[in-house]
Amino acid sequence: MPANWTPQSWRALPIRQQPTYDDPAHLARVEAELAGYPPLVFAGEARRLKAQLAGVAEGRAFLLQGGDCAESFAEFSPNNIRDTFRVLLQMAVVLTYGAGMPVVKVGRMAGQFAKPRSDDMEVRDGVSLPSYRGDMVNGIEFDEAARRPDPDRLVKVYNQSAATLNLLRAFAQGGFADLHLVHKWNLAFVGGSEQAERYRATAERISDALDFMAACGVNSETAPQLRQTDFFTSHEALLLGYEQALTRVDSTSGDWYGCAAHMLWIGDRTRQLDGAHVQFLAGISNPIGVKAGPSMDPDELLRLIDVLNPENEPGRLTVIVRMGADKVGDKLPALVRKVEGEGRKVVWSCDPMHGNTMKTETGYKTRSVDRVLSEVRSFFAVHQAEGSHAGGVHFEMTGQDVTECVGGLRALDQYGLADRYHTHCDPRLNAEQSLELAFQIADALRR
Ligand code: PEP
Ligand code: MN
Repeated sequence: MPANWTPQSWRALPIRQQPTYDDPAHLARVEAELAGYPPLVFAGEARRLKAQLAGVAEGRAFLLQGGDCAESFAEFSPNNIRDTFRVLLQMAVVLTYGAGMPVVKVGRMAGQFAKPRSDDMEVRDGVSLPSYRGDMVNGIEFDEAARRPDPDRLVKVYNQSAATLNLLRAFAQGGFADLHLVHKWNLAFVGGSEQAERYRATAERISDALDFMAACGVNSETAPQLRQTDFFTSHEALLLGYEQALTRVDSTSGDWYGCAAHMLWIGDRTRQLDGAHVQFLAGISNPIGVKAGPSMDPDELLRLIDVLNPENEPGRLTVIVRMGADKVGDKLPALVRKVEGEGRKVVWSCDPMHGNTMKTETGYKTRSVDRVLSEVRSFFAVHQAEGSHAGGVHFEMTGQDVTECVGGLRALDQYGLADRYHTHCDPRLNAEQSLELAFQIADALRR
């Protein structure tokens, strides 16, 4: 922890990407109220995730992190939570088989509500209003009242996160995550369309493995790890007032933990070494992440690691690389060489979403499944060449049948995007595209 760190010491430092509230006293009242609420997660759970991520850092496990770009109040429903969780589980089974390793499952869920934006203001037809910064800050509707940042939204985020977590915990432990059930959904996927047929061979090999285990007496009754799973939550720690209000001392270790999610990460736009976000995350003991876009240079990354993981604790820090399919091959080797060369233990994860966003002629922000896959493949190739462990993947996805990314089994094109384009921020892979990618990645991992 940095010298003189306190949960509020970030307040003295330069900070980016914060809303301007017109009534700071109102914000302070809400933050004080949240500080009296129960933590959403417990320190022991965050430590458990850190231990699992240590396995990833050491090359013995694989990380799957995924969920919405931005959760929203409008899309809050038990079915949406269930469907995203289900697809993550389906992907995890396929990846477990592909990697031949345990898969650590982390949702961008139950707290992923605040967004950094490239512009503070949005102009439409000559009218300029504050940009939408996520439901945690303001409303997406383009009118003055909606776009005014409202502190009461923090309480709504807390409550929605608590309800989401409650359901996720029940799903993870209550039978919904049984491996046999999840595999049955995967079989339905490969049997569901002619295009998915090509993944049948992989699915059948997983069936064989399950049959073999059953013959050996390993089944859902005898092996709890087959009928339940660990599932963790994460989000970008952007609004530090909210994160501070949920930062608590762990009574068993005496350490500070951010208790709004198991894992918190620093975005590519807020990772300044002398800035508030880096300072705040340096002081909490959770597993944390930092995004690394094309502007990250190897020395800068090393200095960030010095601050964020001075004890070189494996599992503490995940570097989430988001270069873009055409840049990762150029940019990543130098980062890996530097960090590995200095003996620093990090989890290397690939976010193939944020460097591959484009705008169609029809005006939609989209991503192509092909480029997403291409970035993942290049990421694997770099790690193979450098002798390091390609530790995981980070996706923006949903369990819903949305039309936001182009490509995939149904070869969705730019004209199909209008049908079900629902995202509150960046385009997400739909359920089918997500699963298809998992099968492709599993194939790449087995080669
Ligand atoms: C995000 O993960 O939604 C995001 C904004 O990413 P980045 O910080 O990498 O741009
Ligand atoms: Mn995003």
